[in-house]
Formats: sequence, structure tokens, C-alpha cells
Amino acid sequence: METVDTFDAIVVGAGAGGLCAAARLASVGKRTLLIDDHDYLGGRAGTEIIDGHKVNIGAIALELGGVFEETFEMAGAPLNIREPKPATVFFLDHKIVDVSRGGMGMLIGGLTRKASKILDEFAKARSGSLPDGRQSTEDWLNGYTKSKTVHAIFRNLCAAIFAMNTSEIPARAFLTYFTSKGAFKRFGFHPEGTMGAWQALADSIERNNGEVWLNAPAEQIVVDNGAVKAVVVRKGDTLVRVKADIVITNCGPKATVALAGPEHFTADYVAQTTERLKPAANIVYNFASREALMTAPGIMTFGKTRRLCNIANLTATCPELAPEGWHQYVAYAVPKPAMGDFDSGAEVEEGMADLREQFPGFDDKVKMLSVRVMRDDWPAQRTGAGYDMDQATGIDGLWCVGDAVKVYGNGGTQACAETAKIVVEKVLAGAPEVATA
Ligand SMILES: Cc1cc2nc3c(=O)[nH]c(=O)nc-3n(C[C@H](O)[C@H](O)[C@H](O)COP(=O)(O)OP(=O)(O)OC[C@H]3O[C@@H](n4cnc5c(N)ncnc54)[C@H](O)[C@@H]3O)c2cc1C
Repeated sequence: METVDTFDAIVVGAGAGGLCAAARLASVGKRTLLIDDHDYLGGRAGTEIIDGHKVNIGAIALELGGVFEETFEMAGAPLNIREPKPATVFFLDHKIVDVSRGGMGMLIGGLTRKASKILDEFAKARSGSLPDGRQSTEDWLNGYTKSKTVHAIFRNLCAAIFAMNTSEIPARAFLTYFTSKGAFKRFGFHPEGTMGAWQALADSIERNNGEVWLNAPAEQIVVDNGAVKAVVVRKGDTLVRVKADIVITNCGPKATVALAGPEHFTADYVAQTTERLKPAANIVYNFASREALMTAPGIMTFGKTRRLCNIANLTATCPELAPEGWHQYVAYAVPKPAMGDFDSGAEVEEGMADLREQFPGFDDKVKMLSVRVMRDDWPAQRTGAGYDMDQATGIDGLWCVGDAVKVYGNGGTQACAETAKIVVEKVLAGAPEVATA
């Protein structure tokens, strides 16, 4: 096996976290190699073409005003997303409820007499007083209201943002997210599909003297004497050894242990990869129609449903996603349980039944583009909020980024970008910084 090159850093996996980490490193002059085993960028947030439609595999809503946007600015990469206005509405009993002015107070004020008590808890959380991490959001909410509609709204918010049911997400994580994280207050859709954002980051890496190799799986992470030394990468028919003192992996701690060999990690670290991490699942329904199914231009969250949690009206702001004359939507359902075993076929049907109920005549109006169950090793979140591992692996120079190592209570691509920022800052603090070109 030949050693083809030496880089300052290698990033294994071109998902949201890996791309953000590689773009940050390259932007400060670190010669960076980013590799991915697929032939497309973005991992679980990539984009595929189906029947002329640009269809997102995972993330659609990209947040503005946080670490994610900051990464693009730092890398000099354009983040050409379009914000729907209003961004979010609720759909209760077939009626749109726009909360862009009145917020949560307006939404639940008319549904339960205990609304002010619930809002007080949000205020307390904002000033740092939070329930302990063991109480579920469902149990926490039960302490204030039994209203089925309020429970359904909270369930569908948790499902939409975290791919978890209220019985699965700790109230502490839920409240942390809504009181101190971005909480999708400002977001946009990309007219090229989410892929457009990843391409901009990949271009910035190459502009900054880095390289991006697709169809290039890492087969081994070489560790010697407690420090990372190289990555063995398959390029076509050949195996190549690429040297670097910094390796950041985006494939999750479990796959990282398999690539480097469990003998290099502490027993506790290895145990956490199976005992602590709990993948959270969701089901994605992509479809298109000739006639508009909804008027709201952004994301609409449902009230009482079996499994369906929300739907996005993609072509209202980004008509380029669909061939002319088509409206394109994506709806999400979250199974019960989302963090355990479930019957995929039965859960897909529950979501379909909801779609038919929410949109009378659904089957006659729509062309289904894809139905995808995201679970196990290709889930909605590699671990649910509240069940993350650390970004440090205990091996010198080897770090993890992505949605298995999120900061407590965060979620989605914003959380992945945050892990990249934390890791890159630690890497740069530990090594002399190279001047930006
Ligand atoms: C249906 C759905 C909807 C979502 N909606 C939103 C949303 O609207 N907004 C939002 O912010 N978030 C959303 N999310 C969450 C978001 O998509 C994910 O949290 C995020 O994309 C995960 O990124 P990651 O950094 O963990 O990397 P991943 O996507 O897991 O990427 C890791 C990459 O590494 C590659 N890899 C693995 N092993 C190797 C190897 N040995 N060698 C080389 N490469 C390897 C993988 O193939 C993959 O391409 C959604 C998720 C789903 C599933």
C-alpha cells in the first residue's frame, strides 16, 4: 500500500458535521482532505433527483443566525437559502393557525387554562432553572395539562425537530432547545435542494487548498501509541494510506471504533457506543401535485394525528425544485417508538392514513416521489437529544462530529455545525495556527 500524501487534517464523512469541520479547517489554512463513501455530498442531508424533482433525503430547513450560517461566512461560501414567511404555522382541525406574532402563548392559550403555568416554565428555563434529565417531556407536560390537543402539539413539535416522541425526549432537553438554541426561528430552503449548501462548502474547501474525494470509503483509521497517524482509503481498486495528525470522523462513534479498532479506546467509550447512543427514526414522504395542497409557504405542524408531525411547502419559495407546473412537498412522520424497534411497513401506513385525513382526496391529487424510513444506521438523528457522546474520543488527534455528539439539547444540521466548531477550535488551540492564505 502506498502513502499518497500527507494532509494537516483528514475528515471522514461529508455529512453536515464533516463538511462544516473541513470548511472551517481549510478556511484557516489547514490543508484538509474530506472523504465520503457515497458519490454525493451531504450524507443523510443529501439530495437526489427523482422524476425531475430535486428531493432531499434528510434536512430541508437550514437555520439562519447561528453557527451554521457562521460556518458559511467563515468559509466564504454562499448560503443561498430562501426564508418562507411566515416560516411556521400550525394546522389544527383543518385550519391554519399562524403563530408568527402571538407565539406559543397564543397557540396554547385557547386550549388549556394552564397555559400561563406552562409558559412560566419556559421563562424559568430561560433563566437556567430546568427539570432534571430523567423526566420525559410527556410527564412534565402532564403536570400542567391533560388537553389532548396540547399534548398532540408538543408531540408533533418534538417529532418534527428531534424525531422523538414526548415520552422519549427529556423535558430538560426539550426546554433547553426551545429556550437557548435556535429553535428554527429563522430558516430557509435551498433552491437546488439542501445539496446546494453542501456544494458551496465543498467548493470553499477546494478553493482553500483542500481536496474532496467522493466514492472513497475509509477502511481503517491508523492509531499508534494512543495517537492517530493515518487513514486507509479505498480509491477505486486501490487502497491508499493518507497521513495526518488530525482525523475528524463524521460517521458516528460506533463506526469510528470499528474503523480504528476497539483496543485503542477505553472500555467505557466502547460501551457508550452501544449503551448510550439511541438512534431516533422518522419516515419521509416526498410527493408532488398539480394543484396546491396548502397555502402556507413554510412548515406546517399538525395537531392530533396518528404519526404525521409536519409538512413543508417547498415550491412556494423554491419552484426550481420541481419541474414546471408541479407543487412539491415533504411530510414527516415519527414512529412509536422512535428510539426502539418498530414495524416499518405498519408505521408507514399510519403516516399515510394521516395524510389522507389531513388532505381529502390525497391519493387522487398527488404523485408520490419517495417514501423512506430513516432508522438504525441511517437514522434521522444518530442519537436522540439528551443521549449524546462527547466529541473527544480519548485518542490523540481523533475527534467525532455530527449528530451523535451534539451539545445537550441541540438538534439537526445546526447542532452538527456546532460540533464542528467545537472540535476545530480545540484542534486549533492545540496546534500552532497556520495563517489564512
Ligand atoms: C428525514 C429527515 C429530515 C430532517 N430534517 C432536518 C431539517 O429540516 N433541518 C435540519 O437541520 N436537520 C434535519 N434533519 C437532521 C439532519 O439531516 C442530520 O442531523 C444531519 O444531516 C446529520 O449529519 P451528520 O453530520 O451527522 O452526518 P451524516 O449525514 O451521518 O454523514 C456522514 C457521512 O459519512 C459517510 N461515511 C460513513 N462511514 C464512512 C467511511 N468509512 N468512509 C467515508 N465516509 C463514510 C456516510 O456515508 C455519510 O455520507 C433531518 C433528518 C432526516 C433524516
